[in-house]
Parts: sequence; C-alpha cells; structure tokens
Amino acid sequence: MNLVLLFKEDFVDPSTVVLRGRRFEHIKRVHRAGVVDELTIGVANGKIGRGTITRLDDDGVEMRVDLDRDPPPALPLTLVIALPRPKVLNRVIASATSLGVKRLFLINAWRVEKSYWSSPRLADENIRAQAIIGLEQARDTMLPSIETRRFFRRFVEDELPEIARDTMKLVAHPRVDAECPHNIGEAATLVIGPEGGFIDAEIASLERIGFRAVSIGARILRVETAVAALIARLY
Ligand code: SAM
Repeated sequence: MNLVLLFKEDFVDPSTVVLRGRRFEHIKRVHRAGVVDELTIGVANGKIGRGTITRLDDDGVEMRVDLDRDPPPALPLTLVIALPRPKVLNRVIASATSLGVKRLFLINAWRVEKSYWSSPRLADENIRAQAIIGLEQARDTMLPSIETRRFFRRFVEDELPEIARDTMKLVAHPRVDAECPHNIGEAATLVIGPEGGFIDAEIASLERIGFRAVSIGARILRVETAVAALIARLY
C-alpha cells in the first residue's frame, strides 16, 4: 500500500480521518507507523497529499489530512478482456488499475468457461476492492469503470464501435505476424483474449469493425503478463 485511499465516510471533520479494519491493520503492521509519522494519502476520485498520524491505538488510527496534488494522469486506453478464470481475475484488475487503466470491460468469448460467470469474484464489491488495491499500489485515486458483458457478438457489434471510436483499435493475438506498435502516443482500445485464445470467427468480427490483430512475439504469455507487457509496449 503506497497510498492510503480515503473515502468520504472516513472523515470525522474536513481535515481528520479515522480508519479501522484493513487500512488500519496495514498502517500498524506493515508501515509500523506511530504518532506524528506521515503517510501518503489520497481521496477517492480526488487529490493526493500527506496524512499525519495524530492518534493510534487498538481501536484505529486518526490522521490529519493535507491534500496538495493531483493523481497521476490516466492512460488513454480502454481495455477489453475476455473474462479470465476467477483466480486470475483479481490480479488482472489490480494490475490493469495500477498501470492507469480507467475503463475496462470484461467480456464473454467462445473459450471463456461458462462457470467463470457465476464466480463470487465478479461481485461489485470484489471488483471494487481489487481496483482499490491497484490504486493503492500505484499512488492513484481515480477509480476505474469496470463493466461486464455476457454476449460477445452483441457487445462487439452494438457497443464496441462507439466505445473505440477515434482510438487505435488493436486485438492482441499471438497467432499473427503483424507486430504490435510501440509508444503510440494516442488513445487506443485493446482487446485481450481468454486463456485458450480467440477463435477465428471472433478475430474476424473484431476486424470487421476496424480492429487490427497484433502480436508481441512468439512467446505466448499468460493473460495477466500479456496485459502488463502490451500496456508497457503501447505507452
Ligand atoms: N493458445 C492461445 C492462442 O494461441 O491464442 C493463447 C492465449 S493467451 C494465454 C491469452 C491472451 O493473451 C491471448 O488471446 C492474447 O490476447 C494475449 N497474448 C498472450 N501472448 C501474446 C502474444 N505473444 N502476442 C499477443 N497477444 C498475446
């Protein structure tokens, strides 16, 4: 936790917060912080600054809050990922969020197992919790929008053209020769496939609406590694 993310309900007055639970335990056990120590804090969807500890006991931690700067800029990237297995989902959300992704769609695809859609990890509270972990990691405060879409074709034909309008449209696909571009310096929409990869018909649907299939080399990467490698390459 490189930043303690604060929410409206943490404030007991305009410049004081009291934290209990996970953040309190982390401050006590990992930061091993005490009274007068300073921590980097940020307000959800707001500014970043310093929190000075004014009280710490068994009940919780109280901090005086001083906010003075903006969070890092967002990536101009919309990420569309075929729903990964539940175990991987948390890591993908936290990692994409820590890299600055602010718009993420988790979609169905032929090779996404149906059972993944009934995982409790898809609950709004879990998705939000993972995004918060990513923000705390990267010292960011801006919560991403994360949505799910159960129907590949409906999403690709009815929604994706508008979502991806005026952006570079890429689908990561290890089975093509075309190289993924570097340092593009512009907005993009990037589609990433499931563990078993996209089937040809799915790639063809994406190509019909202007997406270009690109590869980052002969090594086939796990979804979470591919997300990080592709984002690093594009930006
Ligand atoms: N056997 C699958 C295939 O050949 O498509 C492998 C899928 S891979 C585990 C999961 C997703 O990560 C892929 O659909 C793709 O979007 C992305 N990916 C992994 N390695 C990649 C690479 N070298 N180039 C481009 N995309 C890659």
